[in-house]
Amino acid sequence: MNNLKLAGFKSARSTIEVNGITIGGKDIILMGGPCAVESSLQMSQSAATVKKAGGSILRGGVFKPRTSPYSFQGLGMEGLNYLVQAAKEQNLLCVTEVVDASSLELVANKVDILQIGARNMQNYELLKLAGKSKKPIILKRGLSATIEEWLLAAEYILAAGNPQVILCERGIRTFEPSTRNTLDLSAVGVAKVLSHLPVIVDPSHAAGRRDLIAALSKAAIAAGADGLLIETHPNPAEAVSDGPQSLTPEQFIQLAAELGAVAESVERVFTFGGKGDTLEALRTQIDRVDQSIVELLADRMQIVREIGDQKRLDRVKDASRQNEIIQRLVNLAEELQLPPNLIKSLYPLIFEFGVQSQIKSKLAQDKELEALLYTLGSK
Ligand code: PEP
Ligand code: MN
Repeated sequence: MNNLKLAGFKSARSTIEVNGITIGGKDIILMGGPCAVESSLQMSQSAATVKKAGGSILRGGVFKPRTSPYSFQGLGMEGLNYLVQAAKEQNLLCVTEVVDASSLELVANKVDILQIGARNMQNYELLKLAGKSKKPIILKRGLSATIEEWLLAAEYILAAGNPQVILCERGIRTFEPSTRNTLDLSAVGVAKVLSHLPVIVDPSHAAGRRDLIAALSKAAIAAGADGLLIETHPNPAEAVSDGPQSLTPEQFIQLAAELGAVAESVERVFTFGGKGDTLEALRTQIDRVDQSIVELLADRMQIVREIGDQKRLDRVKDASRQNEIIQRLVNLAEELQLPPNLIKSLYPLIFEFGVQSQIKSKLAQDKELEALLYTLGSK
């Protein structure tokens, strides 16, 4: 294929580095999560499942290109926040699908990887826009696309300036009705011969039924896939989309526990339960927690000011309420195995700053009132 100027294989395979994770290296990368983001709880639970399994990337669709216009179309930006937040909680990366210019612009700065779905593989304007993005792109193979068409779609993204493309085989349409699509595992090998780009496999959209996912996942690794993209849902029976092909959390974790042996047999590595967080990753988590603490303190201070507006100046300090709060928080700290003295030292300071700000705003209000009365009086 002489048109694969940039996507074509030359002398070595490419790896894609994304926030501490290497796709296309020795490690098999596990990505999991629901088809569609439905709620904050659903995403937190899914992230915990992916983490427990040793996965590194959380998936979840917020803009869903559905075959029927009457099917659930995704939660949009509200869902995106649930995805991003849940990934953060577990120190995972996240990926979501983009369907057009506006969804790409909305999500590009918030997620680690963008996905272009099978239905959009030949949406050339979208491919060109993805090529202008700085984010890695998972490019699914189209429903009836040849390998050449798929690689040429990747070429569009590369030619527009983005070298970070991950090919994803997700089953193609055949005459066989027992599965939703037919997983074309030879495409993994062919794509790797023709192109230097990493190739992952999505067995979920290929099979359309959960009983085949474990075997197809193992087969994909044996066939040379660099990673797996698998749908899992805390409660597949209740899923708004693709429930029948979604693994339960237990099935997802059980499958992950079995992947290491398969990976090893083809000289790859998959670490069940993950490798544990590096010092750098742990520091990133601490930085996030610190930021949340300060944001919450700012929220608290704002409420304190609003309360201040409703109090008289001589009632600003309320020692018995302060003691009550400290006692309640000391009990909570004990439950959470935090030293109670931390609360006893911290809270008097927080109260003190609160009281000071209430007094200040009261005095400022009094001055304003005085000035107003003065102007009225002098009229
Ligand atoms: C998906 O990953 O949610 C999806 C819609 O996949 P595909 O584009 O492969 O159908
Ligand atoms: Mn799906």
